[in-house]
Amino acid sequence: MIILKNIFSKTAELSNGVLIPMLGFGLWQIQDGKETENTVKDALELGYRLIDTAEGYANEAGVGTAVHESDIAREELFITTKVNDPSQGYDNTLRAFEASARRLRTDYVDLYLIHWPMRSTYVETWRAFVRLYEEKRVRSIGVSNFKIRHIEAIVQDSGVWPMVNQIERHPQQTQKEMLAYGKDNGIIIEAWSPLMQGNLQNPVLSEIAQKYGKTPAQIVLRWHLQDRVVIIPKSIHKNRLLENSQLDAFKLDEEDMQRINALNEDRYILVDPDNFPWDA
Ligand code: NDP
Repeated sequence: MIILKNIFSKTAELSNGVLIPMLGFGLWQIQDGKETENTVKDALELGYRLIDTAEGYANEAGVGTAVHESDIAREELFITTKVNDPSQGYDNTLRAFEASARRLRTDYVDLYLIHWPMRSTYVETWRAFVRLYEEKRVRSIGVSNFKIRHIEAIVQDSGVWPMVNQIERHPQQTQKEMLAYGKDNGIIIEAWSPLMQGNLQNPVLSEIAQKYGKTPAQIVLRWHLQDRVVIIPKSIHKNRLLENSQLDAFKLDEEDMQRINALNEDRYILVDPDNFPWDA
């Protein structure tokens, strides 16, 4: 039986050899300033090292302050940010990256993602990503909310595969096809809204939680990890950040993994990336 030893030192290897922590924390909908600074500080104190922010979350500055004030060495952290939709395009992306790095108070970013596949710009945005990677401004590059056809378009154009695809993934949207595609093509899958945005009331999850003496959140996060999916649950509460990291003293058996898989409804909480309204 594989037991994760220390959840925070558990990593996945990207196709270029860079190691990404399996567990990080997300900052969407967290206010810039004190709320972001306190959340980052609490998470770092607990042992989290992967910080998931975005230009569009408007809280990179808070991350920059918290990281600057912490005594953790920069190379121990794994900072992800994303280019915002209106900032896409070749030159715009290069500029947007510099602005993000400035706000984050860092010389480099560990993972830079195209936030959404904006149809008229995502291919040239990827060319700018390749340049930032070649210039070593970013340690790894990836995409978010990309379907297979979007990935194929950027690979065909540039010859460079994304190292990560960050997608909506949880028990109601298990993303079986993208997980298989990622495995076949060396793309690490990272789950956003891994906890279904906190809507975890479900009799199957409650029953499994009771069986293992864990919370439904811990069961769902453990299910992701056993599928080799990187997770970035969000909480502004330190007790929940702690709860979301206590995932290493148990292992779901195959039957319970399948019971959670069977909750799939192919349901997006936010929107299907094949048809998102702000790219009309
Ligand atoms: P999550 O699935 O992480 O759920 C967050 C919600 O669940 C919050 O309301 C939080 O409340 C609550 N919660 C956290 N822990 C627990 C727990 N143990 N028990 C019960 N409730 C809990 O949703 P997100 O949408 O925030 O996704 C996570 C991250 O993914 C984002 O923060 C962001 O970084 C990234 N993301 C990326 C997207 C993309 O397009 N690339 C899109 C959406 C998200 P509280 O804070 O009050 O504790």
